[in-house]
Amino acid sequence: MSILETDLAVSSFDEMSMLDNAREYFVQAVANLGLDHGTANLLLNPTRELTVNIPVKRDDGTCQIFKGFRVQHCNVRGPFKGGIRFYPLVNIDEVKALAALMTWKCAVVDIPYGGAKGGIICDPAEMSVNELEQLSRQYLRLIKPIIGPFEDIPAPDINTGPQTMAWMMDEACKMSGYGMAPIVTGKPVDLGGSLGRKEATGYGVACLIKNVLTKLGKSITDCRVAIQGFGNVAMWAAERLNNYGARVVAISDDQGGIFCQDGLPIIELVKYKVQNPVAHVINFPNCKHQLISNKELLELDVDVLAPCAIENQITSNNAPHIKAGIIAEGANGPVTMPADRILSDRNIIIIPDILANAGGVVVSYFEWVQNLQGFRWDRNRVINQLDIKMEESLENIWMHSIVYNKTLRQAAFMVAVQRVVDALKLRSGLTS
Ligand code: NAD
Repeated sequence: MSILETDLAVSSFDEMSMLDNAREYFVQAVANLGLDHGTANLLLNPTRELTVNIPVKRDDGTCQIFKGFRVQHCNVRGPFKGGIRFYPLVNIDEVKALAALMTWKCAVVDIPYGGAKGGIICDPAEMSVNELEQLSRQYLRLIKPIIGPFEDIPAPDINTGPQTMAWMMDEACKMSGYGMAPIVTGKPVDLGGSLGRKEATGYGVACLIKNVLTKLGKSITDCRVAIQGFGNVAMWAAERLNNYGARVVAISDDQGGIFCQDGLPIIELVKYKVQNPVAHVINFPNCKHQLISNKELLELDVDVLAPCAIENQITSNNAPHIKAGIIAEGANGPVTMPADRILSDRNIIIIPDILANAGGVVVSYFEWVQNLQGFRWDRNRVINQLDIKMEESLENIWMHSIVYNKTLRQAAFMVAVQRVVDALKLRSGLTS
């Protein structure tokens, strides 16, 4: 039995971990492309996994140690790249899965990066700003030996944002003794961040939804959308879909969701959330909405469902009850593999995470380019270039899916894995 086979006990139809899912999609692509197991083994496991213990002096004077990770999956196409999440349930296997997904995501949209991911086990809702700053700075100090503008470039993810990146960049500058803007992306605009970065992931999701609808001969203005989450990805996806003329009928967060048949007042909701970042959508005033659970939201009778919160939200349990014809994976891994099979059998189109939410890393790449150029692009240029990248990538994956009779996810993995393997062969000759 090969390492590939021993490493993957994933033949059962039971729900699998995110790492198993990510590996199995990769293994399927290897089989679809006719690649040998030797090649696959090189890409199955990350290049490097780092675990750190981060000391933080709590406001009450006690010292607490937080566990953090940085996983670097593959850098054959360029520096490692990937976000950092602060989340109570994050673990090394999840970070390994997300790092691999970053490798495939950067390859799908053809930007010169590999894949990495970071995470810290913590609950930011229970921590003060002072404690979060210490956590961010100490984590950066501990991972600094393996990151850098041409080695590994972190970015925000769940519960992290421009302020987190500002602290991390500042700490890197202090350690190095010189300016280090391109060491992280997703920075505040005043510190070298890109205009359009905060909206980029959600805008990319919305752009792809509109283009897929067009391909299917449908109009966005006739479309009803439910969005799970109302964080960075979900909020800007909602705003752009609303601008396109779609009816966003439901949104949610970890406390539950709101629904309005005629469409939610998205402009007011975005304003409310920007002004009160810790507010929950269920407390949004002045709107004729109905409260719904996240479970109900996922099963609403809508044209498009965009899960933009966390992983493993659509499983074999609720997949048979999903009514949307299109699912756009704004989050990473929101649909489990068994659910993916059920939905595909039901001819539901899934725009896979490695394509759907790639807008964030695309504009992170633009930010890095601007930092290296020492030249700021205007917002229109950023958004136009983002749209071009997303549309070109969709076109390529859509064609592959038709030519090879595969789902969009299978096609996206085939394109990504082939690009990485081509780079690997050119660089090392390690593969046959
Ligand atoms: P965020 O922290 O800004 O928002 C997360 C949202 O999910 C919040 O509204 C939160 O309340 C909600 N949520 C958390 N737990 C939930 C639960 N159990 N049920 C329902 N909702 C829940 O994070 P984000 O940056 O918007 O990231 C969301 C997803 O998108 C993640 O999977 C992330 O990896 C992925 N992603 C983010 C980016 C980016 O640029 N931020 C890029 C690519 C992919």
